[in-house]
Amino acid sequence: MRVYMEKKELTETVCNACGKKMLVENGILKEECIHVEHDFGFFGEKDGESDSFDLCEACYEKLISGFVVPVDRRERKELL
Ligand SMILES: [Zn+2]
Repeated sequence: MRVYMEKKELTETVCNACGKKMLVENGILKEECIHVEHDFGFFGEKDGESDSFDLCEACYEKLISGFVVPVDRRERKELL
């Protein structure tokens, strides 16, 4: 969940799974955060709905540890 002030400045980011408030300074998120936005389409039961959520890194690791098929993870060669 993300909260923005006027001018769309980020003021707060909360992990939807555990409720942890992540560090935001001067409108910049300073912690690892997995942000998901999904627009449901015609072939699902939520056609026309959009969901979004944020997960802290610990909750993300907890979530994916329950996957039957592990996520694809690779090391990026070029970092900005
Ligand atoms: Zn969390």
